[in-house]
Amino acid sequence: MQRMIENLRIGPYAMRYSVFVPRLYNLCRSLGFERHRMLPSRAFCSDEGQGYPVILIAQHFGTFPFDHGRVGGKVSINRHGPYANHGEDLVIIQASHVGYDADSGRFGVYMRERTDGCGFGSNCGKLAAVLHWYHDEYKAARELIRFGRLDGEQVVYLDNQYLDDKRSEGLFPKLDLLVEGSSDPVRALATSKAFRASKNLREHLGADQWRDESQALGEHLNADLFTFQRQLSRDPEEHDILEQELLPAMPALVTSANPALDAARFVTQVEFDRCYRSILREPAYYGKNLLFISGVNIDVSPRSSFPFPLIKFVPWAAYAALRDGRKFLLEQAERTTAKSAGGKSGSVVVR
Ligand SMILES: [Zn+2]
Repeated sequence: MQRMIENLRIGPYAMRYSVFVPRLYNLCRSLGFERHRMLPSRAFCSDEGQGYPVILIAQHFGTFPFDHGRVGGKVSINRHGPYANHGEDLVIIQASHVGYDADSGRFGVYMRERTDGCGFGSNCGKLAAVLHWYHDEYKAARELIRFGRLDGEQVVYLDNQYLDDKRSEGLFPKLDLLVEGSSDPVRALATSKAFRASKNLREHLGADQWRDESQALGEHLNADLFTFQRQLSRDPEEHDILEQELLPAMPALVTSANPALDAARFVTQVEFDRCYRSILREPAYYGKNLLFISGVNIDVSPRSSFPFPLIKFVPWAAYAALRDGRKFLLEQAERTTAKSAGGKSGSVVVR
């Protein structure tokens, strides 16, 4: 999972919006889009910081973009029909976002200049809120799953809650990777049980780490060793849609050094795929020119001397379906042109 998340690379591809938007505009023109028929749309998070890209899009395309998104950078795929009715040459820009403090090199934070004290806040706040419960569960499990020696034998101690498979939500350790075979506990304690440690765990932890006094598994509880389950709310205003999408990646995200960045990368990849498939099924786009591009917005936290926000766009992938029948996908790694991907235009999307 971590490898999939890291497929969306940041460093070599990040570019300022003031560079990205004119390039995108030129790409559209090179594909045959006409200025007076072009209507951009954006699927951005609701943060005010995402307004700066909107201003630049309006400036270059000559019209305010259609609102195609929800908090967290989700695409409202049920708005394809109305959107298609508003223009002939259509450009959908989807981006999840993450804050970045250049002074400390931290991702996931952004200075809130209009709050008392101008402190740092989470960014994307929505993704951080979704991750919160999972972080807490993981933090608890790092302490509650322990290892040590018992009567000379290497054992793993599991809190009783992790042995209750009737739970409807929580962190679920992969017992087969932690415990030897399907062995019964070697000892039942007041709130936990001790099991023979699995070969996997015995090999992972050096022989000198196994002591008579138990110690927390801590950082050794890596993303391969557990999953999460959660009862998701049905309230449409709640986290559900994003949370459902993020659920398979949660073990990788809570153990990540940059969870906010990785969450934004993951949502962008999943949203590109989901929106691409919804476009293929959408009859309202027939006979139109359409370019769909997905990426991550990096909101660089403002320094006091900066008159405007600095937001960088990291392209992930693009899909075009043109009125003349040409269709093509562009991957992030492709430095090649639309021509090599099946079209006849020559603009590079990603740099
Ligand atoms: Zn956000």
